[in-house]
Amino acid sequence: MDTEKIIKAGKIASQVKKFAKSFIKPKMHLLEIAEKIEAKIVELGGKPAFPVNLSINNIAAHYTPSHDDKTLAHGLLKVDLGVHFNGWIADTAFSMDLENSQENKKLIQASEEALKSAEKILKAGIHLNKIGGIIEKTIKSKGFSPIINLSGHEISQYELHAGASVPNIDDSRASILTPGLYAIEPFATNGSGKVHDGKPSEIYMLQSSSHPRNPGARELLDFIVKEYNTLPFCSRWIVKKLGTKSLFDLKILESNGNLHHFAQLVESENAIVSQTENTVLIGKEIIITSED
Ligand code: MN
Ligand code: MN
Repeated sequence: MDTEKIIKAGKIASQVKKFAKSFIKPKMHLLEIAEKIEAKIVELGGKPAFPVNLSINNIAAHYTPSHDDKTLAHGLLKVDLGVHFNGWIADTAFSMDLENSQENKKLIQASEEALKSAEKILKAGIHLNKIGGIIEKTIKSKGFSPIINLSGHEISQYELHAGASVPNIDDSRASILTPGLYAIEPFATNGSGKVHDGKPSEIYMLQSSSHPRNPGARELLDFIVKEYNTLPFCSRWIVKKLGTKSLFDLKILESNGNLHHFAQLVESENAIVSQTENTVLIGKEIIITSED
């Protein structure tokens, strides 16, 4: 594990978070927000580890603007961003209330406090369900529910979701936290506490690099392998680099099984969802790489 690169990625992620909080205002285009955040990551010397997720209200995760997106920022906005150096990732998220709603503010507080209380008990050897338990307890004490089928995750090089999951509830499984890199991400909702797959997100990830017959698709695949490796990317990025005609090749790669296409994740009762996330390095000491 390259600790130095992870810490560098975390520092940039923290700075970009601060920057995003300073400029995001209600009724801004999500497209403009996403492009500003991703440009800032590059300006600070990093690379986006995945397309910025800007998920509103009942969408818990996996919304990123398309190249011609017209959606305006509103409601409870979750900003989930990642920075990487050579595939070493810091994955972090915060939520903003853009309609001055007490309920939104309470939901945001619940996921923030859940993350903080989880961070306090982190150390190698602790049971993962204990982390989930404290997240669950904190969110429930605020009168909300954790999303039980979304969880934190281990991270390895060029692999955003690797190995172990860090549950958001006490799932009474006995596995323990071993030294490594983890994202911890409580989600709080005033709904049932489950998400299901919604519309396609236009966020993709390489699944197989076996060459398709179509020359345009083959060229696009080579570009994806070189540019993103096994990290998630989106159609907006492809359009920006290669123009709208590349969307056709993207579809070919998808139907050829080269790409995994993520779905938006929507709360089952269409209730409001908040999210807070940090990436932590578990070793002799505990380093919260993406702290505010
Ligand atoms: Mn994230
Ligand atoms: Mn994550």
